Amino acid sequence: MSKMDAVVTTKYSVDAKFKFRCHKGIKCFTKCCSNIEILLTPYDVIRLKNRLGLSSEEFLDKYTYMKIDENSSHPLAILKMNDDEEKRCPFVTPEGCIVYTDRPANCRYYPVGQGTFKKESENGPVEEEFYFFIKEPHCFGYEEKKQWTIASWREDQGVDRYDEVNKEWKGLQLRKNLPGQPELDENKQFQFYMASYDLDRFRRYVFESNFLNVFDIDRETVDKMRNDEVELVKFGVKYIKYVMMLEETLKLKEDAEKYRKKK
Ligand code: SF4
Ligand code: SF4
Repeated sequence: MSKMDAVVTTKYSVDAKFKFRCHKGIKCFTKCCSNIEILLTPYDVIRLKNRLGLSSEEFLDKYTYMKIDENSSHPLAILKMNDDEEKRCPFVTPEGCIVYTDRPANCRYYPVGQGTFKKESENGPVEEEFYFFIKEPHCFGYEEKKQWTIASWREDQGVDRYDEVNKEWKGLQLRKNLPGQPELDENKQFQFYMASYDLDRFRRYVFESNFLNVFDIDRETVDKMRNDEVELVKFGVKYIKYVMMLEETLKLKEDAEKYRKKK
């Protein structure tokens, strides 16, 4: 079963309790690390590429494939399983995950899944988070006695930082649930993918093209983006919103036109 496509039957809050333990001695150890579809988030890619000492281009090329979401037409990076019979994750060994401290958010949450939906309120649409449990026949973790709430599980697995960095980007994915959204054309898909995942290319685009002559971006934001990949990826979401014409997140400079023609 895919960690991406789990069927949600009941939605839980962070206070929901469950029993679970995953450890090296369990008979299903690493069984969950094969034949799965793991959607990567921008922060997953930052953590994994840096862990492996690769550029974003090298990481994406070697370890991922692109999947176009059929509802939103967003291009998404999926972790590529090995081309062997079991379709094992490239990072799993008999000893466990070799990138454990930098494993993707979906692996951290497992066996908890997380979702967000938009609902109407008096003050307009609001986002609401919910959780669900993934129960797969090969996983014996639920038979263990260790008790958690979803909140304590999240803390133990260190997902807060991932959620904080990815929050706005995940909000973009909600578009797929909204009716009447236009499909992204190839150029917009390219921009979306670059700003989401291919951070080294996006950095070059921002700092080595006419980008900063065209867009009016304050000095503090530019400095932060130059020195901090997380700031760059957060700016990337603003750029995506601008490109997709969702929000006026960026302003053109008054003399932008003369530089745009040079692009
Ligand atoms: S990244 Fe690590 S935890 Fe996630 S599927 Fe691969 S081996 Fe398992
Ligand atoms: S199948 Fe479940 S209990 Fe077994 S290693 Fe994976 S998460 Fe842990």
